[in-house]
Amino acid sequence: TQRVFSGIQPTGNLHLGNYLGAIVNFVKMQETHNCVYCVVDLHAITVPVTVWGGPDELRKNIREVTAAFIAAGIDPKKQIIFNQSQVAEHSELAWVLNCIARLGWLNRMTQFKEKAGKDRENVSVGLYDYPVLMAADILVYRATHVPVGEDQKQHVELTRDIAQKFNNDFSASIAAQGFGDAYFPLPEPVITGPATRVMSLRDGTKKMSKSDPSDYSRINLTDDADAIAQKIRKAKTDPEPLPSEEKGLEPRPEADNLVGIYAALSGKPKAAVLGEFGGAQFSAFKSSLVDLAVEKLSPIAGEMKRLSADHDYVDSVLADGSDRARAIAAETMLAVKDIMGMVRKK
Ligand code: ATP
Ligand code: MG
Repeated sequence: TQRVFSGIQPTGNLHLGNYLGAIVNFVKMQETHNCVYCVVDLHAITVPVTVWGGPDELRKNIREVTAAFIAAGIDPKKQIIFNQSQVAEHSELAWVLNCIARLGWLNRMTQFKEKAGKDRENVSVGLYDYPVLMAADILVYRATHVPVGEDQKQHVELTRDIAQKFNNDFSASIAAQGFGDAYFPLPEPVITGPATRVMSLRDGTKKMSKSDPSDYSRINLTDDADAIAQKIRKAKTDPEPLPSEEKGLEPRPEADNLVGIYAALSGKPKAAVLGEFGGAQFSAFKSSLVDLAVEKLSPIAGEMKRLSADHDYVDSVLADGSDRARAIAAETMLAVKDIMGMVRKK
């Protein structure tokens, strides 16, 4: 059977990249799969508390991401929506997987290198271990598919390596316990759609990110029409008019990004967008992009605001989702203990 798992961190502001690269696919996959969508609060705290914002900010952001899932169209009755810290099995499996994953594998993770920057000695141990917790998030549900943005591909590949090593190291015991020749499925990254890597509005070579200190680098899902208009108008471009063919975008990362965003929001291929706007000045293209972005995003923003203010409702969704998630995760942990030889009450 197929199961989808994915997560979003409750840090900072949800942005257009999270929406087009991840959430849109979450919504699509619920038609065909059983899905587990997680607000990964244990991941959020890997950065300094001054960055994730402290208790009040975390509470607010957890509710906001939950509201975004529901506002975007994920049905919390059919699918599981919950926050990671309510299911202790994530942390428990992460410890076990820490003992499977090799230091050399983690040393290759580019997200750590980017997020740690120059001051390596001062980042949290959790930031380094982030990919192992992510592997536990996925494997504790024995998920087969993981919809993510392009930037998370390497972490899903690491998850596969960890799963494979567990399956190999304990193959005899896995068979003896009646699980056949592999316990963990090797999860597939699902990186699809027209915008798997939305770039910063200030720098077309950097991905749009929650943790970018400049708010002008991203369009937040909660931005109002004025903010969207201002950010798009100020977005970096080059002086040339838009090209009429896709290959004209190749050396022009900022133009490519804005055309990509337009294409994703309108549901048209980039070539069609250029068919319409090829030869136009950015000022004209940008005002059409503002109209489109406001049209597509403002209903979600409105619904997010309404829902995230209703703490009783959001918290009850998370509590119910956590109960359903825990039932699956607990079963996995028992099997892992039996496979590894950890004696337990039966
Ligand atoms: P941070 O900078 O703090 O890591 P983030 O913006 O990367 O925040 P995450 O919560 O780490 O947000 O990622 C949630 C999901 O959104 C992941 O699947 C990730 O791949 C996807 N995603 C993040 N940024 C982009 C982007 N710019 N374009 C497409 N997908 C993205
Ligand atoms: Mg990220």
